[in-house]
Amino acid sequence: MLKKILSFCLILTPFLSSAQKQTTFTHADTLRGAITPERVWWDLTYYHLRVTPNAKDSTISGSTIINYKVLEPKQVIQVDLQEPLQIEKVIQDGQTLTYKRDGNAFFITLSKKQEKGKSESIEVFYSGRPRLAKRPPWDGGVQWVPDGKGNTIISTSCQGLGSSVWWPCKDHMYDEPDSMMVSITVPKAMTDVSNGKLRSVVENNDGTHTFNWAVVNPINNYGVNMNVAPYVSWSEIYKGEKGDLPVSFYVYPENLEKAKVQFDQANKMLKAFEHWFGPYPFYEDGYKLVEVPYLGMEHQSSVTYGNGYKMGYLGRDLSKTGWGLKWDFIIIHESGHEWFANNITYKDAADMWIHESFTNYSENLYTEFYFGKEAGADYVIGTRALIANDIPIIGTYNVNQEGSRDMYYKGGNMLHTIRQVVNDDEKWRQILRGLNKTFYHQTVETKQIEDYVNKNTGRDISKIFDQYLRDTQIPVLEYSFKGNSVQYRWVNVIAGFDMPVKIKLADGKNQFVYPTTDWKTLKTKGEKTLTVDRNFYVESKSV
Ligand SMILES: [Zn+2]
Repeated sequence: MLKKILSFCLILTPFLSSAQKQTTFTHADTLRGAITPERVWWDLTYYHLRVTPNAKDSTISGSTIINYKVLEPKQVIQVDLQEPLQIEKVIQDGQTLTYKRDGNAFFITLSKKQEKGKSESIEVFYSGRPRLAKRPPWDGGVQWVPDGKGNTIISTSCQGLGSSVWWPCKDHMYDEPDSMMVSITVPKAMTDVSNGKLRSVVENNDGTHTFNWAVVNPINNYGVNMNVAPYVSWSEIYKGEKGDLPVSFYVYPENLEKAKVQFDQANKMLKAFEHWFGPYPFYEDGYKLVEVPYLGMEHQSSVTYGNGYKMGYLGRDLSKTGWGLKWDFIIIHESGHEWFANNITYKDAADMWIHESFTNYSENLYTEFYFGKEAGADYVIGTRALIANDIPIIGTYNVNQEGSRDMYYKGGNMLHTIRQVVNDDEKWRQILRGLNKTFYHQTVETKQIEDYVNKNTGRDISKIFDQYLRDTQIPVLEYSFKGNSVQYRWVNVIAGFDMPVKIKLADGKNQFVYPTTDWKTLKTKGEKTLTVDRNFYVESKSV
């Protein structure tokens, strides 16, 4: 934990600053973060995860069936499972296989000859006492919380850390199964809520029952979750862009009345985000909001919620403008990830800004949708106080290492700035919707997002991405009045930075100027003050 910052969907509460992040990497980091030779040859198609948690001793046991297609025939397959969990056996076609453990990676030797294009399956049986989540969702694992009534509430969270903290899987984000079944066996007094739709509940003759949840869309591995509690629930149909979306809510019995009021915001969220980003990406799996003992996480189609039925972030406004208290941060932010994180998913943790910058930005767009454009702008500008500019937003590739937590507020402000450069709100909205359509259910790299935005804005904005994602300096517009003109240029920028910016001379009209790192001149009518439009995340200085 001290060696490596674990990622987190939610911000603030930093234990360590980004600057303390790991800069040297180990063999284990590469096994976790690279598309290794033992991963690349097979394409994941399906998981069936079966788990029985045992609250008495905080252990779990179960298996994962992994179906895959052979892309290139190889005989050794990598499956990940983190210590202290143990693999008990691995089976293919009824045969027990041998394997070698290298830390959290298992290299399993397949006896059956693997043939290109064939679909194959292995089943990995495992058990043990998984890492306890001490402060979820930031340091993930499995959380066991007695409810004072003889029950134990169980939840999982594992972003960054990886889903192999609680189940055997291909623990790399580049490859997702096309579908998945999650089967969780719990005492009869308890309900499990996982991803997708509840296909069946099977009553067992040992005082337990098994919840079978079917996910029919690709799912990223940290999005998979298990939530066990004596839930009460209700369901609705949301009439959305793609028709009827089943929406369900699962809460603790004592919170039912509060939840019925607070969770109406999920409907408002769907309305606003379908407007900005296009249809909710998982109609077939439904949308669920599920109460948990920790703050929350963007678990796909079962967004988890622990914001205490407060507005803002645990009752606080991150923007300090007042707008952040108009809505429940966890409902809005975590659900925003259904579009950016679950629909469009990074291939490598270094590109985590694709999840967090757009989702942070979604808070601004939600505010705008309900309270107007200036309110949205106030909100995103208000969050600038939280930007550190310590290290670049893009992290280190192939070692499961995300970049600066500036991926939240600075990333949101970068997108808000790019919107100003595009200077056409409808075009910008179509770009946001187009991203979700073009990269629907895909894992992507930063370059694909940059290329798409470049192509669809009709303007090369690579230097803007470079400046804000790959550098820590904030552009400064230097200007100097001389007679009936003003000279201006960018400083504190990368080479070739050429972002247009909107300025106002004295109390005249807003106008675009096109600075570069060389001085340029603008004729004036004798004005002696210049202000830069506050929507651009830049600074300015008279010299
Ligand atoms: Zn997030």
